[in-house]
Amino acid sequence: MSETLEVGGLTFAVRRSQRRKTLGLVVDRGAALVVQAPQDTGSDELARWVQSRLLWVHRKLALKAQLAPNAREPEFVTGESFGYLGRTYRLVITAGQDRPLRFDRQRFHLRADARPCATDHFRSWYVSVGRPWVDKRVAFLAPRAGVVPTRITIGDLGYRWGSCSRDGLISLNWRLLQLPVRLADYVIAHELAHLVEPHHGPAFLRVLDRSMPDWGARKEELTRKAREVYWCSAGMAQ
Ligand SMILES: [Zn+2]
Repeated sequence: MSETLEVGGLTFAVRRSQRRKTLGLVVDRGAALVVQAPQDTGSDELARWVQSRLLWVHRKLALKAQLAPNAREPEFVTGESFGYLGRTYRLVITAGQDRPLRFDRQRFHLRADARPCATDHFRSWYVSVGRPWVDKRVAFLAPRAGVVPTRITIGDLGYRWGSCSRDGLISLNWRLLQLPVRLADYVIAHELAHLVEPHHGPAFLRVLDRSMPDWGARKEELTRKAREVYWCSAGMAQ
């Protein structure tokens, strides 16, 4: 029978090994929890060690639940749909065109020989259309929040939708361009509110309530919609 460990309402499989010298913790692809331990680690010590890492575990699990099953990856084949601000557009693989990727408001056209780097082409496309679009939304949303951001960038933030630095720089994930406008707006409004308060405390919530009274519903919808977003993690730079 395999050894398990219960900590904080979670069950961990314990894998002991003669060769291991240190303790390790893995949340595997299927969100199963595995503790790796040297052969002779006592179960109390093991439990204490796992306890000290529960916050990390919960964070990992939350991330998996939100993103892992939905970390959809495109195959870049004709007929596949790509989201752009709430609408979906079909992809056509084509032989003759100058640019590797073209969008004509009806379809995306990807040149066949550009398929191996398709992720990069799509990412650059979303970033380039995203920049002016995001500026417009910020111009609309920032006054509602009563803030003035110093700078907005759009790029690869891994699994985060957005971030806000101490000096007022807001970074947004290019993947949000695949979302409907109201949800991308929520991500922007959320980061703008962080200009007032870096944590999710009362001051932060007051700003968000004022600038976007229905933010709660949008936040929930975002969790669902995130499953439809192409994550393109193969080319993910963090
Ligand atoms: Zn936040």
